Amino acid sequence: SSMEMIKETIKHASGGQDRVALRAAKKSYSYLQLVSSALDITSILRSNVINGSTCLDGARVGIAAKPSPEFVAGVLGTWLCGGVAVPLALSYPEAELLHVMNDSDISMVLSSEEHQGILENVAAQCSAKFSLFPSVTSMSPVTESHEHSQNGRAGMISNLTSEVAKFPTKEGDDPALILYTSGTTGKPKGVVHTHNSIISQVQILTEAWEYSSKDQFLHCLPLHHVHGLFNALLAPLYAGAVVDFMPKFSVRGIWQRWRDSYSKDGYKADDAITLFTGVPTMYTRLLQGYEAMDADQRAASAYAASQLRLMMCGSSALPYPVMKQWEDVTGHRLLERYGMTEFVMAISNPLHGKRKGGTVGKPLPRVEVKTLSDEGVEIKTGEGELCVRSPSLFKEYWKKETVTKESFTDDGFFKTGDTVTVDEDGYFKILGRTNADIMKVGGYKLSALEIEAVLLEHDAILECCVLGLPDKDYGEVVCAIIVPHEDVKKKAEQESKPALTLQELRSWALERLAPYKLPKKLFLRDKLPRNAMGKVNKKEMKKLLEAEAA
Ligand code: ATP
Ligand code: MG
Repeated sequence: SSMEMIKETIKHASGGQDRVALRAAKKSYSYLQLVSSALDITSILRSNVINGSTCLDGARVGIAAKPSPEFVAGVLGTWLCGGVAVPLALSYPEAELLHVMNDSDISMVLSSEEHQGILENVAAQCSAKFSLFPSVTSMSPVTESHEHSQNGRAGMISNLTSEVAKFPTKEGDDPALILYTSGTTGKPKGVVHTHNSIISQVQILTEAWEYSSKDQFLHCLPLHHVHGLFNALLAPLYAGAVVDFMPKFSVRGIWQRWRDSYSKDGYKADDAITLFTGVPTMYTRLLQGYEAMDADQRAASAYAASQLRLMMCGSSALPYPVMKQWEDVTGHRLLERYGMTEFVMAISNPLHGKRKGGTVGKPLPRVEVKTLSDEGVEIKTGEGELCVRSPSLFKEYWKKETVTKESFTDDGFFKTGDTVTVDEDGYFKILGRTNADIMKVGGYKLSALEIEAVLLEHDAILECCVLGLPDKDYGEVVCAIIVPHEDVKKKAEQESKPALTLQELRSWALERLAPYKLPKKLFLRDKLPRNAMGKVNKKEMKKLLEAEAA
């Protein structure tokens, strides 16, 4: 429940020292300050939304801040009051924000100054109240090194505990959070999570990846998706770790932060990073950044990265060449896992034990999975739709009763819409979304993800996206949209020829792919249109390409 999350936060605050919970913009924020700021938020909510009563009773509160202590205090404060937190995607254009805020019927928006302009405007349009976050006080360097007097701190903690106890907090199956899906396959859907589903997930992750108070998490993901919110924020905080926010993903910034943590002479900083997670494209960018370094800096960077405890990857398929190269540079076999807004994480490669490239591992503790054939029959081998049952399952799609019903089997498994296979050791391979990544060519069903992984091994290819375009003879034909490496592109421009031709690609791929899997069409691009989670909307992409071909 939310109370568990808050009690845990107070517990972390009440150790011998006022422990650091968050770092942002070179300042530190303690667990104690988080709880006290959450209480400040409850005052704002009580005076604006519920006229002084203590319970929001499920009212929705929009949280609009980049990853920051304000964001965290906003969520905890909303939960304390029995409200439902709706983290807002700040990258969305105004129309999308309005859609999300109207759809979730938000009563109030808490916003940072940075986003005041746009949010105050949108809030007015959907008659929601608006307030700026009260600022969260950072720890002074003095309190960080010298503890508060033991008595003073004990007093503060017992004060906070009794303040917190005054709230008739919602529990169990009550809604606590609405997250919108990435919108990769359509308009984003509001996914309702409950206090129970949240705390179960947080415990599952803490256990599986052994998060602890010794960990320091370098966080550079948006907070309106499960990856950034659960894996890299809520679970680490539950475990008493430090979360170090880098609100804008920066290749140089990340390598620098790792080099500042560890150096080759054996130095380890007090605030040394131990955990990192990212989407596949981040690792691609980090590798590009690494290649641009001089030899000394490369050595220092590779060493520093090798010293982290764990590096993880997910949100979309990790291409094998990226995984391999990352391992060559840093010694880390990235831990790839599989998740979805609807149940957060369900399948993961192990922390200890074999991490199999090209798979997402096995079901996490307390997660049940099964694979259904097209006919809806459970199968043990071969391709089928993955279905998941877990204590972390969402309650419903917000205001979409029919869609919710259709998404579950009679025995309560959620139908993911992803096609998978299982290998002889029980490791799952994600072949992709049944309706976007699985192409039907002639009599065959092909996985776009599998072909993408192969094409990425080509020297000239930086990024690629494979999809099926309609074809009157075959049903669909395999198309590759390719972003060439910068140097390949420059060289080709000088010689006034294309960076890669379909002919070249096909003859290279002939040794690696069955003939019917070879791309029949090739499009060269400067970049791929990716959303905030680094995913390509293939449906959109198909429409664009079809229009272009017509
Ligand atoms: P929408 O539901 O709005 O179309 P979305 O499904 O992209 O958007 P998310 O819930 O953020 O929204 O993403 C879940 C999907 O991401 C999964 O269904 C799966 O297709 C994909 N995914 C997540 N992790 C992996 C992974 N490790 N490998 C391959 N695909 C993954
Ligand atoms: Mg989805």
